[in-house]
Amino acid sequence: MSEEISCVITMISHGDDIIDITSEDVQDFISFDLHLETDIALHSYRCQEWYVNIKSSEFNSILQKCKSNCVGKDYDLILQKSEDQKNKKLFVFDMDSTLIYQEVIELIASYANIEDKVAEITERAMNGELDFNESLKERVQLLKGIDSTNIWKELKEKIEITNGVKPLVKALKKLGCTLAVCSGGFTPLAEHIKEELGLDYAYANNLGVDENLILNGETIGRIVNGDIKAELLLEIAKKHNIDPKQAVAIGDGANDLKMMSVAGFGIAWNAKPKVQLEALACLNTKSLLDVLYIMGYNEKQIEELIK
Ligand SMILES: [Mg+2]
Repeated sequence: MSEEISCVITMISHGDDIIDITSEDVQDFISFDLHLETDIALHSYRCQEWYVNIKSSEFNSILQKCKSNCVGKDYDLILQKSEDQKNKKLFVFDMDSTLIYQEVIELIASYANIEDKVAEITERAMNGELDFNESLKERVQLLKGIDSTNIWKELKEKIEITNGVKPLVKALKKLGCTLAVCSGGFTPLAEHIKEELGLDYAYANNLGVDENLILNGETIGRIVNGDIKAELLLEIAKKHNIDPKQAVAIGDGANDLKMMSVAGFGIAWNAKPKVQLEALACLNTKSLLDVLYIMGYNEKQIEELIK
């Protein structure tokens, strides 16, 4: 007999629509044998959670059932062990299409009028002809000759921070969490986001410049790819004496899956289908502040946390 673990299932509506799902509905598609209890409304109509005891041997199959039930629906269902729900101490965020709405490489391409060349590299990368490091190097070569002072200044003004990020960071800081951005993009922008938001760490790729601060088309030091993102998460956890089980990785791309797999919890934020399939949790709402619902905080508590 495998042991029973206390779990929590959180339902979050993608938008402002009323989602009318009862514990019986959830029970129906998960398993008739399970008994969902303690129906808790975290938000009056957007978010609900239920506690349930699950055999540890059945956790993965129930997780898959929760995830597959949400496909094409206007809500997410998130399953986790109840003891892990609030026990999250480190958050590592991807930057492009996660903390910010844009993909920085696209902003750069339009700034430098190299959209076609960048699109061609992206296509080869997607066809598997280039790995992340190679495609980054090719893209960086395209930037050779650009004045670095101007490009970063202009891009900083164009970057738009994702809805809910600012209050989420404030709340997580209040809760004593360590926060980092690990980006496959570029350091000046990741540093800018770190400063804007008050994060603890920013890691990204460094670009070489000549004596006049003109980009020389090369990267400096280690390239932040999927493997390095995972290493960085473990490094930060170690530095702060945080068990990686208490770490959360949040991102939208395939190169965020490794850091999700070394962390105790991973959230695929409005992610590509492959990422949604592999991540422990999917969040497809309009505000990253909804992460606090996943952690079991209700509307009132969230209001207090973001004050
Ligand atoms: Mg991304």
